Amino acid sequence: MTQIIRSIHEWKEVLNSRVLSGKTIGFVPTMGALHKGHASLIERSVRENDFTVVSIFVNPTQFNDPKDLQNYPRTFEDDLKLLEDLKVDFLFYPDYADIYNDNFKYKINENELSKILCGKFRPGHFDGVLTVVMKLLNIFRPDKAYFGEKDYQQYLLIDGMCKAFFLDVEIIPCPIVREPEGLALSSRNALLTKEEKIFAQNFPRLLKTKKSCDSIKSELEKIGFKVDYIEEIGNRRFGAVHVGKVRLIENVEI
Ligand code: AMP
Repeated sequence: MTQIIRSIHEWKEVLNSRVLSGKTIGFVPTMGALHKGHASLIERSVRENDFTVVSIFVNPTQFNDPKDLQNYPRTFEDDLKLLEDLKVDFLFYPDYADIYNDNFKYKINENELSKILCGKFRPGHFDGVLTVVMKLLNIFRPDKAYFGEKDYQQYLLIDGMCKAFFLDVEIIPCPIVREPEGLALSSRNALLTKEEKIFAQNFPRLLKTKKSCDSIKSELEKIGFKVDYIEEIGNRRFGAVHVGKVRLIENVEI
């Protein structure tokens, strides 16, 4: 049975009961609307740790667009069923006031990587991400925390934050889970129409080609995508596009 923890106070009661003493904890933070991408992180945590905590918290401070927050898919009953099937020990499902007891007066801010790629197009996004992850890591003090390479920039920023603040946690990157047709699984894909989803497959397909970033960008624009960026950093190519009302991100190793 997955135990639902609704507040930090309830988690303290679990800690006081000492069931976790001397055991390892794996942590998987999510915003819910769980899919096979999330499941791959969770399965790994269950395999590698004595106890696994999954959090579901649609973190308002990382949404720079209020409409995106309003439309974000919420599928709590299905999520809980998946967590039960995967034998997750604890689901943390807190309220805003519990997480933001300071009303977001204190925030974690990074000055370089968070300002490029998605950071350039989503002002404040990574402040919200880093702040909520710092709070969650402080609440659960996990041995390992699992993040998807789907959000590669986010993974790098979180790994950097943990090192910068000497957090005693191992940040584990997990490979991108894709649809058979190549599109990376994402909670926001549920907001695409059937036609948009088929059209969206062009994005990972073109990103993987040997063409230059500029020519990929113009080809995507020619067939109807609104492109935020296509850029290479090190051995990775990153991209963000809009399809209908949905913003999609991708990255591939080159
Ligand atoms: P989210 O609920 O979108 O905040 O994602 C929670 C975690 O799952 C993040 O670490 C994501 O990078 C990861 N994740 C989301 N989609 C995928 C995917 N298709 N493959 C691998 N990891 C993913």
